Amino acid sequence: MPKPIIAIVGRPNVGKSTIFNRIVGERVSIVEDIPGVTRDRIYSSGEWLNTDFNIIDTGGIDIGDEPFIEQIKHQAEIAIDEADVIIFLTNGRDGITGADEEVAKILYKSKKPVVLAVNKIDNPDMRELVYDFYALGFGEPFPISGTHGLGLGDLLDEAAKYFPKEGEEQYSDETIKFSLIGRPNVGKSSLVNALLGEERVIVSNIAGTTRDAIDTKFTKEDKEYVVIDTAGMRKKGKVYESTEKYSVLRALKAIERSDVVLVVLNAEEGIIEQDKRIAGYAHEAGKAVVIVVNKWDTVEKDEKTMKQFEQKIRDHFLFLDYAPIVFLSAKTKKRTHTLLPMINLASENHSLRAETSVINDVIMDAVAMNPTPTHNGNRLKIYYTTQVAVKPPTFVVFVNDPELMHFSYERFLENKLREAFGFEGTPIRIIARARK
Ligand code: GDP
Ligand code: GDP
Repeated sequence: MPKPIIAIVGRPNVGKSTIFNRIVGERVSIVEDIPGVTRDRIYSSGEWLNTDFNIIDTGGIDIGDEPFIEQIKHQAEIAIDEADVIIFLTNGRDGITGADEEVAKILYKSKKPVVLAVNKIDNPDMRELVYDFYALGFGEPFPISGTHGLGLGDLLDEAAKYFPKEGEEQYSDETIKFSLIGRPNVGKSSLVNALLGEERVIVSNIAGTTRDAIDTKFTKEDKEYVVIDTAGMRKKGKVYESTEKYSVLRALKAIERSDVVLVVLNAEEGIIEQDKRIAGYAHEAGKAVVIVVNKWDTVEKDEKTMKQFEQKIRDHFLFLDYAPIVFLSAKTKKRTHTLLPMINLASENHSLRAETSVINDVIMDAVAMNPTPTHNGNRLKIYYTTQVAVKPPTFVVFVNDPELMHFSYERFLENKLREAFGFEGTPIRIIARARK
């Protein structure tokens, strides 16, 4: 079940990024602690009423050097294309402006639900300012204040009414869903074609097209797969389709629907910043990851080349130390047959459930070997560990005081769990919780 998506639209300076940051909150991102990952603050996740959702600040997507009004229009179109519900943000202090009306015109034409918010209503005396906004034709305007965090609960309550209901995912649990992400021209489409052209691969339906991607279902050796191909949907001829942030957005949506994400690199060009950003999102979404080095045919090799390239990848993607690396060529089909077995492995580990008694043996052995950290004379005590979820495997460690669980100790425990259970290809999560 993919997470619902909220998009914030509105002309500049109404407070979109302020609201975005408020809603996303001070959530500590797992990736942020890890060197080498650049955060891109236009897309993030939030939680409301126990529902996780994703949120897009369309204001962060700048589209070339277009005139300002065109930019806003494109941003509104992106919101319409991508979101389940749109927050149309205005500024109560300015009243309705011409630019607001332009945005409204585009939103009228869409069938997406729109919730109108009037920002910068910093105190109750200012509430009268919102009545004018009924004129925009989107029903009740919700007064909010980004700076003071007022009114956001009511706004999100309203938005949440439009979230899609459970049970809309069309594939069975056993079907392995995977996607290929990477910069343009790294060879994603070629790789999909190579996979589908393999022996004993039976493609059951092409173009189970969703709004955002082409899903191709296939089987090999009685295993069912769906490859989610976003690249195939690129050529819709809209201006914004060529912007980098937009293609990242598309990749993010494919990641959300996947069990396994193939991070595709181009051996010919090496690793660049954009690769890292894309890979960081796969990690943060908690998906299984396989790193694929494509165009291996173009590289002049001796016996050391593969090791050296692998080391370069490890240095650049420190946070993906669990991801296996596959070197191949979609063009010559050399070693493409090694990919599906790797996808299977990553997927199995992603949904692996470890036995509770064994987990606790592993943790107790780990603690015996490397004593728990202390802070101000207090020592971390670990009472009990249990796996609470799969996809990715998630462990809750019951302790005396979660504050004492240092990042480096958590890493140590993670490594011990990995040594014991494998987990190759999947991130694992460890949550320290106070024993009640
Ligand atoms: P964006 O261009 O729509 O993303 O707008 P920003 O989030 O960058 O905000 C524009 C300006 O409005 C900034 O100076 C914010 O501090 C200010 N601002 C945002 N929300 C509020 C609010 O609720 N009240 C007041 N008084 N100012 C706000
Ligand atoms: P995408 O944009 O990531 O989907 O990339 P494409 O699959 O469209 O490939 C981009 C270009 O790279 C095309 O010209 C392909 O023929 C070429 N290409 C793809 N895979 C390989 C490969 O393994 N080796 C070589 N030499 N070229 C490749």
